[in-house]
Amino acid sequence: MPPLHLIFDLDDTLYAERDYAIGGFRAAAAWAQSTLGATVSVDRMLGLLDEGQLGQLFATVLCEAKPDHSDDDVKNFVRAYGQHEPRLQLFADAADALTHWQSRAKLGLITDGHAATQHAKIRALDLAPRFRHIIATGALGPDRAYHKPHPRAFELMQTSLGQAGVGFVYVGDNLSKDFVAPNALGWKSIWIDRPSHRAQRIHKHTTAPDGGEPHITVHDLRELTKVLG
Ligand SMILES: [Mg+2]
Repeated sequence: MPPLHLIFDLDDTLYAERDYAIGGFRAAAAWAQSTLGATVSVDRMLGLLDEGQLGQLFATVLCEAKPDHSDDDVKNFVRAYGQHEPRLQLFADAADALTHWQSRAKLGLITDGHAATQHAKIRALDLAPRFRHIIATGALGPDRAYHKPHPRAFELMQTSLGQAGVGFVYVGDNLSKDFVAPNALGWKSIWIDRPSHRAQRIHKHTTAPDGGEPHITVHDLRELTKVLG
């Protein structure tokens, strides 16, 4: 059997991104209170998040709490969110799967977002010792240029860990962007769709573009032992 290269997404694949958001909302609300004297409700932020309004969320709640705020206030408010030191926990099935595969495959991580933010999550989850290679796509270029579905991170992972395409698998949760590049490169793609977590996923309202459909669906990462043999 060729060596197995098992590459994971991070947010909502290995831990609940909503937990990160809650910690960030608390940090942003604390900043608004101490710096602007504005009272922002964490519950209100969470309500908007659950409605899928992530893009306008920060501007909306700051408008409500302090109508005369400046553009810089919004930037600093968002910064307080992105720069907080998170406290996170792996999904139980993710922890079991990583422990199982650590000695049986080369493990990699490809995650979108600001590199500093993603590395804070990786620290909080103590993931660095478990993975051979970690790529935060935000570190590859500005303005989300190399975020998924761009293939750059997947090509770099192949170069770093093995031969192109041979025995590579990508496991992710986001149908809209996770599987386009690995499919095109000849990787096996696996969608993690936890029934118990469906309602809380940050990117729950997504569908797969042409060519971006996952080859396999699992409902628990412990099922990887079955589908990967
Ligand atoms: Mg994800």
